[in-house]
Amino acid sequence: MEFERTRLVAEMIAPDTGELVYTEVDVRVDPLTGHTSRILPNRGLMPPNDFDLEAFARENQERCPFCRDRIERLTPKLPPAIHPDGRIVQGEAVLFPNLHAYSSHSCVSVYSPRLHHLPLGEVTERLMADNLSTQVQYAKAVMAADPDSRWSSINANHMLPSGSSLFHPHLQGIVDPSPTTLQRQVANVPAARFDDYLDSERRAGVRFLGNTGHIQWLASFAPIAPAELRAFVPGIASAAELRAELVGELAHGLTSTLSGYAEMGYESFNLAIYGAPPGTVGYPLNLRIACRSNLKPLYRSDATFLERLHWEAAVDLVPEDVAERLRDRFRT
Ligand SMILES: [Zn+2]
Repeated sequence: MEFERTRLVAEMIAPDTGELVYTEVDVRVDPLTGHTSRILPNRGLMPPNDFDLEAFARENQERCPFCRDRIERLTPKLPPAIHPDGRIVQGEAVLFPNLHAYSSHSCVSVYSPRLHHLPLGEVTERLMADNLSTQVQYAKAVMAADPDSRWSSINANHMLPSGSSLFHPHLQGIVDPSPTTLQRQVANVPAARFDDYLDSERRAGVRFLGNTGHIQWLASFAPIAPAELRAFVPGIASAAELRAELVGELAHGLTSTLSGYAEMGYESFNLAIYGAPPGTVGYPLNLRIACRSNLKPLYRSDATFLERLHWEAAVDLVPEDVAERLRDRFRT
């Protein structure tokens, strides 16, 4: 497989020296969806966190509906057709419907009602696996109760810059009769193209991170967000098909990623695990995870007119450098 890229060169007269200077922009095409992405020279667009998140957490905790004293009273319950107990509990994780639904079946699952602040470096495999497990149980239960809803995704807005309206860390699940735009795009990729992509990345080596057993991890060639990684779970198409050992393996890869992000100075991320209908032949369950800007007053959003309105990322974190930085964590 060819990794398609074009180099653009911007020319200008420098304000200080009056000399002619050049800036190169590396435009890359995503081999699976055809999305294009712009890799910029390092401009410090994503500075490391220097905001006191702990103090901010204490400030906003008083009103948090996901904390221990309020979760039981302030969060909704699942209808009995989905779950007789109204909530799905696994370890410390608790799943309930999203009060502000985004779909016909929309849920929220907190890692733990006791963890109002959960820095990325402190997300353990146990917390992640239990939280993912509530989402898998939810997807299965919804599909059993409402067989038309076969498209599921497990997602995260972690920390306010990622789009989260609540500070307390959580995952979000969606199960619907139809896919989102990106679910539709990846589901339309021919099976052989996924194999070709993964083989080519493994051979190239510069973005490939590792195979953690069944799941393959790599840095995106043409990311749609900063420090974006992708993972592929061959053999299953939906989160509803994740067996316990795969949940554990996925939790391992995700916490490895998050501790790497923490080390790079990032505390906010988005995640999407794109499910297709269970049993879809040739479609590997796959995900994207990427950093978002850090929280602070007058912060710069990483989503500009390019990301939001052109669907074209412009990032100054070079994918190969991100892979180099994170690869050790995926060696088994
Ligand atoms: Zn809370």
